[in-house]
Amino acid sequence: MKKTLDIFQRISEALLEDEIKHPVSKHIPSSKLYETLDLSLKQDPLDEDEFEQVIKELVLATTRTGTNGFFNQLFGGRNPNAILGELLSVMLNNSMATYKAAGPQIGVEKSILRKVGDMIGWDENADGTLAPGGSMTNYMSMVMARDVAAPLSKTEGLKQKLLVYTSKESHYSIPKNAAFCGIGRDNVRYVPTDDFGRLDAFQLEKMIEEDLKNGGIPTLVNLTAGTTVLAAFDPVRSVNAICKKHNIWLHIDGAYCGSVLFSRKYKHLIDGVELVDSFSVNGHKMLGTPLSCSIIVVKDKKHLHDSFSNEASYLYQTDHDAFNLGKTSLQCGRRNDALKLWTLWKSVGTSGLEKIVDHQFALADTARDYVRSHEDYTLYSFDDSVAVCFNYKNIPAQKICTALYEHSKLMVGYGQFKEDIFIRLVTINAQNEHQDIINFFKMLEAFVDEHAELFQADL
Ligand SMILES: *Cc1c(COP(=O)(O)O)cnc(C)c1O
Repeated sequence: MKKTLDIFQRISEALLEDEIKHPVSKHIPSSKLYETLDLSLKQDPLDEDEFEQVIKELVLATTRTGTNGFFNQLFGGRNPNAILGELLSVMLNNSMATYKAAGPQIGVEKSILRKVGDMIGWDENADGTLAPGGSMTNYMSMVMARDVAAPLSKTEGLKQKLLVYTSKESHYSIPKNAAFCGIGRDNVRYVPTDDFGRLDAFQLEKMIEEDLKNGGIPTLVNLTAGTTVLAAFDPVRSVNAICKKHNIWLHIDGAYCGSVLFSRKYKHLIDGVELVDSFSVNGHKMLGTPLSCSIIVVKDKKHLHDSFSNEASYLYQTDHDAFNLGKTSLQCGRRNDALKLWTLWKSVGTSGLEKIVDHQFALADTARDYVRSHEDYTLYSFDDSVAVCFNYKNIPAQKICTALYEHSKLMVGYGQFKEDIFIRLVTINAQNEHQDIINFFKMLEAFVDEHAELFQADL
């Protein structure tokens, strides 16, 4: 093992060094992948040097998400103390299903869940778990909502027409999950949004009343804290009142921006969070842990047990259910996704998590100020959002994003809201400084100047 760690050290150092010169890795067209790198698997082993060399080449050719050139997705950057936790969880290789197999790591996960519950304002009756990503924590919320609305569905299968409500701007996992859990994609109602991309509570209530008249069973309302494109926040309080009136499970999908929970300045964006039934947040988005670290907490832990526990005498042989986390999780064997957030949290404190979140909003302010004060740009997004959406000159967003990628300049994506398509700059990498944001725009402008031939038709 010692030798392996030396290899790891050498390759990681080579990567870190190369990233300084090349924040964006050299573009390999997917059609050329297998001729560019030798990824084939052979009958005979490689010798040690070849083995290390082949891995190093692969690592150096891989897309770089930890640098100041990556703005493509809703994650990015590289937090050293979170990475330490992740590496140790791989080294320890526990399964979080039982206390016997994970020991104190159970307490690590529980401490995070307890603290998140406390910060929401819930009591000891709250609990939660981690699942492999926000899509899956959303799935868990839907399963619990289904089991509350139709308790017999667990044993007999689903017979009623259950309905799920989510905004048009919400994450695509909602219809997928509706298919997975027997509710069906056609029973997802897409609620219109206002001009800021937030779910329209008035329209929601109208849709619910209409469905009730037609004999449907409104089962779950999914709100989003940080919609995928605009990073908008749906209104919690007004929607909660509707849900309570009609007895509907209310979940907040905070995968992207639920971490505003840690910020005194931005927590108001999820005002009313203590009223909902479940809340999910990804540590691997705003907080910057490695993928994946997705948390769901529920106000009443009874629902986690009701929907996810199953007896298994070969597995649960010691200790109480409160320490055997397999009784409340989606998986059986489950990797330790909690430790990386715990090492991060321990190292910077809750006040440090707040700084991480606030810094991302400050970076977004810098980006918005830049776009507003330069006349070649058009802004499409709003204040209090970590997604800065804009266009440059008349260049179609898709064209410029793809050209920047193919020329290994910048990794950034595009999005659409209503009729507009635009570049979406996500300021989610907390290791970035304000100058990195300014540099992003300078590089984009220089790129367009240098490649005028590509954009002739648009300038
Ligand atoms: C990213 C995201 C998800 C999905 O999370 P994964 O961890 O990628 O599965 C769900 N909802 C929202 C709003 C997201 O931004």
